[in-house]
Amino acid sequence: MALPVEEWRLYGARRWAALEPALRERLAAAASPHDTLRLGCGLLRPEAEAAALRRLCRRARTGKEPAAARFYREEGNRLFGRRHYSAAARLYSQAASHELPGSPEVSVCFANRSAAFFHLGCFEVCLEDIARAESHGYPERLLPKVLLRKAECLLCLGKLQDAADALGLVENKIAMDGVLTSPARQTLLKKLSQLKIKLHEKESCPEPAQEACGDAQRKLETWEENDIISGASSSLSLNFDTERGRHLVASQDILPGQSLLKEEAFVSVLCPGESLLQQDSSETPWDTRATNADLYCHRCLRQLLASVPCRECSYAKYCSQTCADVAWEQYHRIECSLGALLLTLGVFCHVALRTVLLAGFAEVRRLVEWSHGGDKDLHNPEASCKHLREAPARKAGTRDIPGCNDNGQYQSSYQAVFNLLPHYEKHSPEHKFLCMLSVVAICKELQEAGLEAAVLNQESSEKWSKLKTCEKTSGELSPELQTMAEAMLRHVLQLQCNAQAITVMQESGSGDGAVVNKKPVRLATAFFPVLSLLNHSCCPNISVSFSGTAATVRASQPIPSGQEIFHCYGPHRCRMKVAERQQLLSQYFFECRCQACLDELESGVRSVVSMRNSFCCPSCRAPMQGEDVLCCSNEACAISVSSESLSRRLRDLQQQIKRALELPRDRKADQAIKMLLKCQMDAGNFLSPEHLLMGEIEDHLAQVYATLGKWQEAARHLERSIEIVEMHHGPSSIEIGHELFKLAQILFNGFAVSEALSTIQRAEEILSVHCGPQSTQIQELQEMKTCLSELPKSILQRT
Ligand SMILES: [Zn+2]
Ligand SMILES: [Zn+2]
Ligand SMILES: [Zn+2]
Ligand SMILES: [Zn+2]
Repeated sequence: MALPVEEWRLYGARRWAALEPALRERLAAAASPHDTLRLGCGLLRPEAEAAALRRLCRRARTGKEPAAARFYREEGNRLFGRRHYSAAARLYSQAASHELPGSPEVSVCFANRSAAFFHLGCFEVCLEDIARAESHGYPERLLPKVLLRKAECLLCLGKLQDAADALGLVENKIAMDGVLTSPARQTLLKKLSQLKIKLHEKESCPEPAQEACGDAQRKLETWEENDIISGASSSLSLNFDTERGRHLVASQDILPGQSLLKEEAFVSVLCPGESLLQQDSSETPWDTRATNADLYCHRCLRQLLASVPCRECSYAKYCSQTCADVAWEQYHRIECSLGALLLTLGVFCHVALRTVLLAGFAEVRRLVEWSHGGDKDLHNPEASCKHLREAPARKAGTRDIPGCNDNGQYQSSYQAVFNLLPHYEKHSPEHKFLCMLSVVAICKELQEAGLEAAVLNQESSEKWSKLKTCEKTSGELSPELQTMAEAMLRHVLQLQCNAQAITVMQESGSGDGAVVNKKPVRLATAFFPVLSLLNHSCCPNISVSFSGTAATVRASQPIPSGQEIFHCYGPHRCRMKVAERQQLLSQYFFECRCQACLDELESGVRSVVSMRNSFCCPSCRAPMQGEDVLCCSNEACAISVSSESLSRRLRDLQQQIKRALELPRDRKADQAIKMLLKCQMDAGNFLSPEHLLMGEIEDHLAQVYATLGKWQEAARHLERSIEIVEMHHGPSSIEIGHELFKLAQILFNGFAVSEALSTIQRAEEILSVHCGPQSTQIQELQEMKTCLSELPKSILQRT
């Protein structure tokens, strides 16, 4: 997803292979984006590239298609009929995204969606959708029914005067409408009188006003901002040396859970769902599965309920009209028609384009020109700071640290983004060539779509429209677009080392109530220039959590003054062996020398992962040892098995488990439990007792028991899963936090009050370190606690 689709990568490889060797050599020697573009631009065959891309883009469906709208609306109606209201609402959203704004069709989508939200009890959202339906020209003859729904919502919300007004309006409409056929009229009148009775009841005995939610209870985090680094705590300092580059160090002792950094992404792009790029479009034209684009706002990444579709395309959906308008103004008016191309070229190209659009042409030109300046060091921020090596960085001041402004401050700005290391010399020449082809393709498309003036922030398009016509014949990029292309090429390459994934905890599985199982999911790719200052370690000392497009960094353990702050770029020592980690980290062009890697590489310490994910002897259960052929460590036993056959057995077992888990959806929970218990037996015969899969089986059993309301059994299995997770990730890891959260829900549901309270306490302690005291999970835990403390004594005594 980050990179272009495979076919385009292959096309780039073919073009590269077909170049004259001398030219390939010169391209390989190009030392900057500027050189690559200067050499490469002339080689392009605009017609051939454009044709190849056009073919690939046909697979990405980003336009509005009336047939798709019909399909989704009918699917929505079908699910609505089966009372699957949230799924129906989502399908109506998809239908709405394919309809033209202001059409009766789109207003019907909103009206239908309002009905789904009404049944879900989301009365405010329902009212919003009714207003939307009206503003898009909802057909007059259908209006009374929708107005009755509006009145009912207002009644439920206790807005009695508004409800009375709405009812009055419906009454008038029904009275004046002679066309209405009698059965429909009768239903409406009946409903009307019911609502009027309800209104009178409410008016005569008003309900107490609802209390405001307990915001006051939230603890405010103390925060003293750093005067050098924007968004950072004053307990950090920005340092520089040639070995580690720029990095952050604790300037005082830091406690676990203390916030160290709060940063809004400079730019972020929602990762599209797989199904937006279909392999075979003839087979199933439309997909009812929800993708990220259906679930999260295209701009702010907030979860979508009643989404507002873009007026032009079908793929950008927003949480509100405000987000839609701001995104349109800032970048989407340029990106909108390029949707299919951007999906084809991958998220990195998309982020690169949005970065230059957000920065604005003037700022892009300033920095690109500055990078051409005689000072070669500008391409290599490390070299420019060599003179800092002798003196301690702090004394030398931060003004000379790359990315800092003239006041020596490091801010989340385009200048800071521009100064992130592109590692230009380390990427393969072929990869740079592909990236160049891709960014030039984007710029060509902008030029041909007549968007150049918009890209360059030019209000009057006269000059540009003239330019555009002559460009078209020559097929060459204007100097301004070449500048944009150069910056974009730099950003695409920077992303390989500096892209930060924004993740959210997403509900997985059936989600049918009692216990919510959440997993982290990659939502977007972003540039966070301040967060990018942190170096990697496979045993980091911080945790990063996200809220929308904002990242918060917290210490996950005590950090003594003087120690470097480390982020984990992905390969964590608890998840991978050292060889796998080093392999993954090679994309960042460095060899990790963190303590975990040194221990495993040099002192031969076996990794946590390999120790705990090992096999045991099928005969005597002693640990197995060896590489290709595994032998029992018990000399008396002398059994040996090929690792291949054990791995096959493991795969079969995983298949079995998967099959068992598909059962409960059809309400066959008892059978699922039987199958899982059998899997557990099998697993015990050849997996070590601490194997992660042993824990996963316990976790699945807990989930199935919970769906049956057998809380004690569920708790017992989950506790065993927690023991294994703890062995892998440690007692204060975020993984344990999530597990304890699940256990708290199970104990809560089973009225096991004292156990629930102590589990809530533990979960709260761990999760507030990683996610902060204001995270949704902490709020939910506190609600459970309040609820338990208000339980009547009679229930408490029973337990
Ligand atoms: Zn939004
Ligand atoms: Zn659009
Ligand atoms: Zn490491
Ligand atoms: Zn044995």
